[in-house]
Amino acid sequence: MNKKIKHIILFTSSLIFFCISIINFYPEKISKILINYTIEQNKNNLSLDKDEITVFTIGTGSPLSADRVQSGTALFVNNKFFIFDVGDGVVQKAESMNLPLNDLDGIFITHYHSDHYIDLPYMINRSWVLGRNKDLNVYGPKGLKEILDSNKSFLKLENKHRVDHHGSQIMNIKYAFGVSNEFKNQNKQIIYENDGIKITAFNVNHYPVSPSVGYVIEYNNKKVVISGDTKANDLVFEMAKNADLLIHEVILNSLLDKTIKVLDKKLMVRNSHIINDIQDYHTPPNEIVSLANKAGIKTLILHHLIPAPDNIVIKKIYEKETKNFNGKIHVANDGDKFVVK
Ligand SMILES: [Zn+2]
Ligand SMILES: [Zn+2]
Repeated sequence: MNKKIKHIILFTSSLIFFCISIINFYPEKISKILINYTIEQNKNNLSLDKDEITVFTIGTGSPLSADRVQSGTALFVNNKFFIFDVGDGVVQKAESMNLPLNDLDGIFITHYHSDHYIDLPYMINRSWVLGRNKDLNVYGPKGLKEILDSNKSFLKLENKHRVDHHGSQIMNIKYAFGVSNEFKNQNKQIIYENDGIKITAFNVNHYPVSPSVGYVIEYNNKKVVISGDTKANDLVFEMAKNADLLIHEVILNSLLDKTIKVLDKKLMVRNSHIINDIQDYHTPPNEIVSLANKAGIKTLILHHLIPAPDNIVIKKIYEKETKNFNGKIHVANDGDKFVVK
């Protein structure tokens, strides 16, 4: 070993030893640096372009995948910040991604399965606690008003404690609740039209869960479509024609068939029954691929992954069952970012 390398090794190990000693014996001395670093890190640096649509898949899981956050998609368009669905873990994950929850403009719910709205009270509350000083409009099909009304009593004490503690100037109670924009069940309808942004809700087939909708977001000749939970449905692909992004749910029925057989053998009747039930109201990859090819979809993002591709075997099955898609395909992870330019 030459002399120069010896010196470098000696210097590096002395430096590491010095740093560890400082952290060990004088943690309070470096805490200020750490606090400053954390605050700077937590500032959101999204650097968004006004002409683009930016999408983050906050949560890509389903009730079957505890390692992933449940449904939640953030969308930034023309200085507006919207979130579509707020399943379990969406608030925490969005915060860890430094998404500016204090600046949230609207929440859109596709349907009232818990994996799509169980974090709704927390999202309303958390964005307010973090400094939201404007109305938070919540959009959803029939049932929303009742949920938001019950949310008022659910959050009554929490809100009171925050106001009592920090004062009404810091915690303006006026913004502590979501504003209901419940819409009636129609085949398709524009539910938001402002500043060049148009959002259309359309019915999907998640029978027996009704109402259940998907959303089309259009701005500046760009189009993003979110399927919601649905079995194979022509309307999704009709709405998604010429879309820049189609964000679609998916279920691997081929794998679930095998799971049912194993569960039956183990006499796990309840689990087997539920997995059997869920197969008929989601869409398997081959059906998505054939409809998306017919509709000429350019980019397909799969989320609400049943099950999550968190090991090499399931990853390969997703790859195999989507290989005939003609466009670009992404099996999304929590926290992925997609920009429509
Ligand atoms: Zn559902
Ligand atoms: Zn779902």
